[in-house]
Amino acid sequence: MTTNLLDFDLNGLTAFCEGLGEKRFRATQLFRWIHQRGASDFDQMSDLAKSLREKLRGVAHVTALPVVTEHISSDGTIKWLFDVGDGNAVETVFIPEDDRGTLCVSSQAGCAVGCRFCSTGHQGFSRNLTTGEIMAQLWYAEHFLRKRFNTDERVISNVVMMGMGEPLQNYSALVPALRTMLDDHGYGLSRRRVTVSTSGVVPFMDKLALDCPVALAVSLHAPNDELRDNLVPLNRKYPLKELLQTCNRYLEHAPRDFITFEYCMLDGVNDQAEHANQLIELVRGQGADNVSCKFNLIPFNPFPASGLKRSSAAQVTMFAKMLSDAGIVTTVRKTRGDDIDAACGQLAGDVRDRTKVEQRMAKLRTIELKPIS
Ligand code: SAH
Ligand code: SF4
Repeated sequence: MTTNLLDFDLNGLTAFCEGLGEKRFRATQLFRWIHQRGASDFDQMSDLAKSLREKLRGVAHVTALPVVTEHISSDGTIKWLFDVGDGNAVETVFIPEDDRGTLCVSSQAGCAVGCRFCSTGHQGFSRNLTTGEIMAQLWYAEHFLRKRFNTDERVISNVVMMGMGEPLQNYSALVPALRTMLDDHGYGLSRRRVTVSTSGVVPFMDKLALDCPVALAVSLHAPNDELRDNLVPLNRKYPLKELLQTCNRYLEHAPRDFITFEYCMLDGVNDQAEHANQLIELVRGQGADNVSCKFNLIPFNPFPASGLKRSSAAQVTMFAKMLSDAGIVTTVRKTRGDDIDAACGQLAGDVRDRTKVEQRMAKLRTIELKPIS
């Protein structure tokens, strides 16, 4: 089997080329052809020595993932479903806005965290993606979009690791992918424009701060441990106090001076005035866990198996106002690509029915979500 060069960051590719008896700068040239020019055919790489191109043909390839489906929304959002083998698929979403183009990238097939409101969580965990499979999403999307818009300029300006999976539970594959996104010879994205979203895997948040401190979004979703234990089961391992302290440690390395807290608005579950008050107390309290943050309220994308409902627009507005009035910058995420189900884990769920997981989740649903006292 030959090696997929999408699996390497520049250091990795350099080591690979040195193993073939090639100089470092050859690796840089090759890296630029692959990521900046979108080349996959070694014969295209005209400034590489013929002998190197022949060597590469025998041992390496540059291969993206097979596209299962491609949906283009009326608002310009594009969603791809990529085949990762064994009946698994992952999704990638491109969201064009006036001043930026954002790609939402997946890190795992399925997810082991099992959040109640997330259809990826309901599918259970299949496997980690490789660095090459993470990179293939950006590589394919960027060069597809350049062709579509008939441009040589960069189309994707921002990457958010908010597709399927928990990126910090696939750390060793994630970091080389992030480095390729940031590398000037790769995609040249600034650290502020690459965001890792996590449900709160505390030890790897600390590691990321040292290895590759990109922007961080933390999926909070609840203002107290009792509710968060239920919505985001990982909270039982890393409760709120510990999570917020870790956010503060991260901020010492982060490219921005705030953490983004994501908060999925669930009707009657976490969207009441008392929850907003608890949140304000949580992040603005006088204790050590006072965190510099912004809130991003996400309208819940309902799916039948969740048994949950989207909060009303009026409730979301009220909630946002309470946080804003307390001096916390709060935005409400626009829903995009609604006509093509371009929200978290919505399509790939149709591909495979993981019956056992469904049974487990069905059991979870019988636990009643108590209103907080
Ligand atoms: N595992 C990571 C990143 C992927 S999920 C994380 O949990 O942060 C990206 C974001 O989408 C998270 O904030 C997640 O809570 C949110 N999300 C998941 N399912 C959703 C749904 N059905 N509706 C709205 N947001 C959802
Ligand atoms: Fe996994 Fe994130 Fe979905 Fe939770 S919200 S199940 S961590 S992908």
